[in-house]
Amino acid sequence: MTVPPKILDSFDVIVCGGGPAGFCAALAAARLGCRTALLERYGMLGGAMTVGGVPAPALFHAWGKQIIAGIGWELMERLAKEGWAVLPDPSTPKRHPEMAVKVNAPMAAWMLDTMCQEAKVELFFHQPAVDVICQEKTIETVAIATKAGLRSLRGKVFIDCTGDGDVAAWAGAAYELGAELQPGTLGFYLEGTASVQAEQLNQSFKEARAQGALKAGDFWGEAGGDAMTILRGLNVNHVELNGSDSASRTQAEISGRQSVARVSRWLRAAAGIKPQTLAPEVWVRESRRILGEAYVTVNDYLEAKAGPDAVCHSFYPIDLHTNTGGNLKNIYLQEGKVPSIPFGALIPRGFENLLTAGRLISGDRLAQSAYRVQASCMAMGQAAGTAAFLALTNDCSVSQVKCKLLRQSLAKQGAIVPESH
Ligand SMILES: Cc1cc2nc3c(=O)[nH]c(=O)nc-3n(C[C@H](O)[C@H](O)[C@H](O)COP(=O)(O)OP(=O)(O)OC[C@H]3O[C@@H](n4cnc5c(N)ncnc54)[C@H](O)[C@@H]3O)c2cc1C
Repeated sequence: MTVPPKILDSFDVIVCGGGPAGFCAALAAARLGCRTALLERYGMLGGAMTVGGVPAPALFHAWGKQIIAGIGWELMERLAKEGWAVLPDPSTPKRHPEMAVKVNAPMAAWMLDTMCQEAKVELFFHQPAVDVICQEKTIETVAIATKAGLRSLRGKVFIDCTGDGDVAAWAGAAYELGAELQPGTLGFYLEGTASVQAEQLNQSFKEARAQGALKAGDFWGEAGGDAMTILRGLNVNHVELNGSDSASRTQAEISGRQSVARVSRWLRAAAGIKPQTLAPEVWVRESRRILGEAYVTVNDYLEAKAGPDAVCHSFYPIDLHTNTGGNLKNIYLQEGKVPSIPFGALIPRGFENLLTAGRLISGDRLAQSAYRVQASCMAMGQAAGTAAFLALTNDCSVSQVKCKLLRQSLAKQGAIVPESH
């Protein structure tokens, strides 16, 4: 695009994508006084946490203590106070999935609206970003698809929180996109109470697999052995896709629904339960990783060193989902180690007014398989929103923002800033 569609409005900060990273980025910038727009292609905020059927933000705690706070934790506490989230007990550490917060997705979506309205974030629902005008590494406008047709918003700083790095890619940022990608998952909820014992269901599962009525990838936990976990619905299947490619996404939705149909037919016969609600799309674990001024390697992550540019922690094992029917590749952190994310990993190389946050930041795929979790994305989002504010108030490019100032501002907002060591 060389000429922007009609300009609707101008903002200090424009955040594209309202998932865990995006809502924290927008809230941070708005609370610091920036006029902030948040673009979301769906009609609700939360991304994977709400729309995507993954209401389990991980992980705010490590080794018995809190390592991520700030806006993400504020959301968890506000939900818990009203009885819409269950917080983990850090004094009795359990396996990593059990240390996630359990949130009620509809009420989380409502709370996100509330928090954005309180902070005067200007919400643009159902208005996806579709392209940018970028001159010499400076984005000028973002085009959005509205009910009135294509329109543009002018911005001073842009933050790409689309998950797939669409905005950065349109602007010409360098990125990595593996030939092999982690599969996505099409979440679904079940209705009814299962009238079946574990042994019986597992036997029935084996028979259905042997007969070809169920296929590899219909239940990715198959290697772990207990078909009863399928009854939880949600994170059951593996669907191969490249989230940054529309044709691949289209094929994945069809394959995902075929998989849900196979599982549903089998479950109705074997356990008397049916699917009730389906997530609106196959949610993506991995696609573009936008190359930044810094790059988090799996060794950086596992060694857990924190430099003076560290803006937040991230804590989760390396958690690579391999292709359909395959297993998980987990590498656990050594006791006491808590990795961190450097500011440079949020700055696309060479760009003046573009930041990133969330699962798309700069790092290798093994590191990404860990730092992609929601609490980490929320902490990165708050850092990116704060950096946008500092770039504007200091009249400098995003890469000239002083890490010391950024860390001070984050600490003042109640975020946990890694100690440099
Ligand atoms: C099946 C599955 C299970 C997972 N399990 C867990 C778990 O148990 N715990 C955990 O913490 N993490 C889990 N994860 C990882 C985690 O949910 C994601 O990595 C995380 O949500 C990424 O946050 P994000 O903000 O970067 O992206 P997303 O959550 O993907 O949010 C991106 C947002 O941007 C919007 N968007 C995209 N393109 C545009 C556009 N062009 N214009 C406007 N808006 C746009 C999307 O609609 C979405 O709201 C899981 C992931 C998957 C796929």
